[in-house]
Amino acid sequence: MPSDWIRFMGTAGARFVVSKQLRSSAGTWCSFNGQQVLIDPGPGTLRSCFFNSVVLKPEELDTVILTHRHLDHSCDVNVIIEAMTHGTFNRRGYLFAPRDAVCGFEPVVFSHVRKSVENLEILYEKGDYRLGDLHFETPLKHDHPVETYGLKFNLDNACVSFVVDGKFSEEMIENYSGSDLLVMNVLLKEISPEKEIKHLDLEAARKLIEGIRPSLAIMTHFGLTMLQENPGVLAAELQEKTGIKVLAATDGLVVRPDQDLF
Ligand SMILES: [Zn+2]
Ligand SMILES: [Zn+2]
Repeated sequence: MPSDWIRFMGTAGARFVVSKQLRSSAGTWCSFNGQQVLIDPGPGTLRSCFFNSVVLKPEELDTVILTHRHLDHSCDVNVIIEAMTHGTFNRRGYLFAPRDAVCGFEPVVFSHVRKSVENLEILYEKGDYRLGDLHFETPLKHDHPVETYGLKFNLDNACVSFVVDGKFSEEMIENYSGSDLLVMNVLLKEISPEKEIKHLDLEAARKLIEGIRPSLAIMTHFGLTMLQENPGVLAAELQEKTGIKVLAATDGLVVRPDQDLF
């Protein structure tokens, strides 16, 4: 079995960083148990597959997962699935998405594209999903303006969680406990308590790291207030505070759970 890897094609979060492309807003490509999985294909994902030092072939994807319908996570989902399915002519692959991304008012995945995948599965809280030998869970519905689920992959040698957009809660610590690699969408440096902003900030990241104590924590999905500081310096400060290894993702960062965690 080839070793697992995660490529952070893009690390942008929030509309200003995305609009100005201060960081790439492409998704996260994972090769887990030999399955090619693309998470949250935001704006520029298709282009980024081809115009980088390593070419990733969308026709080799097995699965696309949308954690939620916001544009910075779903903008390229239709063109990526068209590429995965050879222009929709070769019905194949999986799409996992919350109900409000594929049904009802203004679904973000077009109907002809939905029909082109072999399997469309709806994500639920406490969902448990299988892709061949690969197993993942959606343990928690996040507190975010649209239906949003984080992901927990149970690999042979490691548990890898993606704590995507959402307001911090103690429930996150319970539900993502046992993660060896903890990826967190830390959009803002600081959220003042009186503001109802449903995202993670550095303090939330600290609580998650201290509560879960992974082998490695990675921050990504940066908004302007994170980029105005140096995210690498902020990660080093968090590492100092928590005693856990913390990285700030950069566009193109590759992590290999087998080699980088233990
Ligand atoms: Zn986002
Ligand atoms: Zn969002």
